[in-house]
Amino acid sequence: MAESVSLTHATRRPNLKDHGRDALRTLFAERGWPAYRADQVAAWLYQQDVEDLDAMTNLPQPIREALVAEFDTRALEVVETQRSVDGTQKLLLGARDGARIEAVLIPEERRNTLCVSTQVGCPLTCDFCATGALGFTRNLSTAEIVDQVLHARRHMEPGGSLTNLVFMGMGEPLLNLPAVSEAIRILTDPKAFALAPRRVTVSTAGVLPQIGPLLEVAPIHLAVSLHATTDEVRDVLVPLNKRFPIAELLATLREEPRIHRRRPVFFEYTLMKGVNDSVADAKRLPGLLRGIPSKVNVIPMNPHDDAPYEPPSAEVVDRFTAALHEGGVRVTLRRDRGRDIDAACGQLANRQAAGNA
Ligand code: SAH
Repeated sequence: MAESVSLTHATRRPNLKDHGRDALRTLFAERGWPAYRADQVAAWLYQQDVEDLDAMTNLPQPIREALVAEFDTRALEVVETQRSVDGTQKLLLGARDGARIEAVLIPEERRNTLCVSTQVGCPLTCDFCATGALGFTRNLSTAEIVDQVLHARRHMEPGGSLTNLVFMGMGEPLLNLPAVSEAIRILTDPKAFALAPRRVTVSTAGVLPQIGPLLEVAPIHLAVSLHATTDEVRDVLVPLNKRFPIAELLATLREEPRIHRRRPVFFEYTLMKGVNDSVADAKRLPGLLRGIPSKVNVIPMNPHDDAPYEPPSAEVVDRFTAALHEGGVRVTLRRDRGRDIDAACGQLANRQAAGNA
């Protein structure tokens, strides 16, 4: 299904969705308007899903006109949607400067999860990740992050609602913390999008100085892309490890007071055949994680053309998860979803995304 792109003006104006309610109230106060007008705009944008400022009928005409003259309310357009045989939908979204990004909507029995992107491309060059192979173009704005969620809500099955949000799409969220933080504020604000913070997960490859500031924004979940039990292997898979090695990463998490039993860290461990899937790895992991409330999410590698890695056999995956379990680690196996439309973890790499199409 393709839809035409209508966001054609080249001029970029400030977007109201770049501002959480506090910031909106400040903007409004500067113009002499009362704070509750900002709350009304937030309710239209995020609760009523109305983007047309002229349709915000409880605002006085002069305020509407002033907003129309100065601000945009839409940041992204849907360029194309693809649907997997398993119901997963991938949205290809276009920004005003022509950048393309992807968001993935994953329906499950009792929840509907959206995976959002935070950057166009990614600067981290993890060598098993298709996004990493793209290179980096730019950070997304708050409005562009929030718009992925609003578009996804419009693509829900009738009667369905968006229950969970994971920042696991293209990009490294902690290298775009100001925009990501403001998006989290909007999406978890009870008077805006109103998602429960515990249903929001931000995944990082381990940008250590930004972990505390992120967890200060709201009581969300943190996911950490670990993928290895030695620096030797992690240096290759996740080059950021050379700056923030495993011991420092785990020490930071161990000392972080906002991580506790009710809010454990989700460690992601992408299993690659012959690289990080040995019994020795599985036996090392419990010791490394000691003292950190955690769950380990094992993800068999989703293969793609940009990386030389393959998933291990089902037996090896079972052997690995069983060994973790025996070591006292809470472990889940992530089922791959949407592989047939390249929507699975690490496969988001629309060629146009880096603006080099
Ligand atoms: N930059 C952040 C957010 C990306 S999240 C981070 O690194 O956490 C995407 C998750 O999918 C990460 O855990 C990433 O390591 C994992 N991943 C990347 N490529 C993959 C692949 N080909 N197969 C399975 N998982 C992959």
